[in-house]
Amino acid sequence: MAGEGETVDIDGSIMEGGGQILRICAALGCLLGKRLHVHQIRAGRSTPGLRPQHLSGLQTVRDLCGGKLEKAEIGSTEIEFAPGKIKGGTLTADPKTAGSVCLLLQVSLPCVLFAESPTELILKGGTNAEMAPQIDYTTMVFKPIVEHFSFKLDCDIKRRGYYPRGGGEILVKVSPVKHLNPINLVDRGSVTKIYGRAFVAGVLPYKMAKDMASAAVRCIRRELRDLHVNIQAVQEPKDTAVANGSGIIIVAETSTGCLFAGSALGKKGVTTDRVGMEAAEILLRNLRHGGCVDEYLQDQLIIFMALADGISQIKTGPLTLHTQTAIHFAEQLTKAKFTVKKCEEANTDCNIIECQGIGFKNMNI
Ligand code: ATP
Repeated sequence: MAGEGETVDIDGSIMEGGGQILRICAALGCLLGKRLHVHQIRAGRSTPGLRPQHLSGLQTVRDLCGGKLEKAEIGSTEIEFAPGKIKGGTLTADPKTAGSVCLLLQVSLPCVLFAESPTELILKGGTNAEMAPQIDYTTMVFKPIVEHFSFKLDCDIKRRGYYPRGGGEILVKVSPVKHLNPINLVDRGSVTKIYGRAFVAGVLPYKMAKDMASAAVRCIRRELRDLHVNIQAVQEPKDTAVANGSGIIIVAETSTGCLFAGSALGKKGVTTDRVGMEAAEILLRNLRHGGCVDEYLQDQLIIFMALADGISQIKTGPLTLHTQTAIHFAEQLTKAKFTVKKCEEANTDCNIIECQGIGFKNMNI
């Protein structure tokens, strides 16, 4: 029976010291049938311990596999998790806050890929939240790239929700796979298209979306003069968005299919021009290093590389601490081997992350 044998000790305070450690370890513990003791949870944060979004993510993994989760409450700085068998079916996760639906997806997706049967996940919370992928990042950047591991991620945005009320909802459908193929993202190509969406919801005026988009376009044109930049200004329909929110995501696509994004959310005291420029500057920063993924996709691909059947390679800019942390825990739990090498080409600040994946097999199908 899964979850037997020795318990793996996870120190949640090391490296990035945040919620990502919990998500990676819970997902891998669930897949590999390893019991976990996680302590010093989010010790690196100003409010350490489990926040509603982290608790809800852990409970989702527990429910997906009929496992046992102990000591897990809001504020807990340690938990114990004993996984069971991943079944699939329909499951709802609702932290009842504006916690990111994309981070709920981050913890559950690796598990449901190796379920017995197809899964429908109803994930509730914030669709466009700070310090997390916006749902548009997940659908426009994460989804097309992660599908190179050879699975289909069907993600339907039912309702958008923002800080502080949340109330957003996505429906994710995934069919299980036998194994994951490795990926190879080392050929950057040249940027062919830049597009995106600037949105307002609730009582916020449409003009804000137009101003965000125009400021972003001006900023991008200063550096990439010859490219057509198409950022749509959108007023979210009232029946598909809860309360007020605003933000922007801009995506760059290359001739070889690489995708990069810069995004930002509207905040009190920050002008709409500033929000648009912030997203544009993040995108430009991520295009300058010459890698094939942006600074956010980097860490989000690590768990899949560790599980894949063969050698994956991705060319990236400087490694983020999130990525180094993901590699550390993926190696600790799976025994996959990662190496990071500086690229030899002149004038680049690029690295190749290579991983010999463990070829994890779905024994359920
Ligand atoms: P904590 O509250 O402890 O920081 P958390 O669970 O909210 O924990 P992190 O552990 O910091 O968050 O993980 C955030 C995840 O969201 C990472 O995978 C990161 O790549 C992703 N992310 C953050 N900002 C963005 C962004 N602007 N675009 C895309 N992805 C993002």
